[in-house]
Amino acid sequence: MAFELPALDYAYNALEPHIDARTMEIHHSKHHQAYVTNLNNAIAGTDAEGLSIEDICRNISKYAPAVRNNGGGHYNHSLFWKLMAPGKGGVPTGALGDAITSTFGSFDAFKEKFAAAATTRFGSGWAWLIKNAEGKLEVTSTPNQDNPLMDIADVKGTPLLGIDVWEHAYYLHYQNRRPDYIVAFWNVINWDAVAARF
Ligand code: MN
Repeated sequence: MAFELPALDYAYNALEPHIDARTMEIHHSKHHQAYVTNLNNAIAGTDAEGLSIEDICRNISKYAPAVRNNGGGHYNHSLFWKLMAPGKGGVPTGALGDAITSTFGSFDAFKEKFAAAATTRFGSGWAWLIKNAEGKLEVTSTPNQDNPLMDIADVKGTPLLGIDVWEHAYYLHYQNRRPDYIVAFWNVINWDAVAARF
């Protein structure tokens, strides 16, 4: 079974004014589609065909760079679309909210740490909130389309929240102002989806 581009749960313009419709359309229908197409081409005829994208990521050191780049791209973006929703944002509650407060001191302290990871990731990549092997929350970042599921990641764990800081995620609306895009991202985070992963 070849991988397929997942449909969004909301319209391309649903996250405005925080993330504009044109960016969403190109990001989903062009960039993510290209990762899916290139991943399918890269795994055709190999033993990665038939594996889940999670299992491919967990064993990514076994595969060619094209699988790492495009498999990571497919996993990361499939997750990213689910972590956002219109009319969301706010502050996480329940067990996740408690874990963030006890780990980082406060929600604001977590926001600062996550934003710093996203801002300082040089070039293209992602910043993450993960649950590590000990069950603890941790903020980390990865280059390019790597992610914390990958066996080659410096800091490994299950991604709970991630932000794409490739220029293609924000350049049309925010140009070079990555920090403004990161500020806007807090308004569209679907904490219910993050909490379900936790
Ligand atoms: Mn992207």
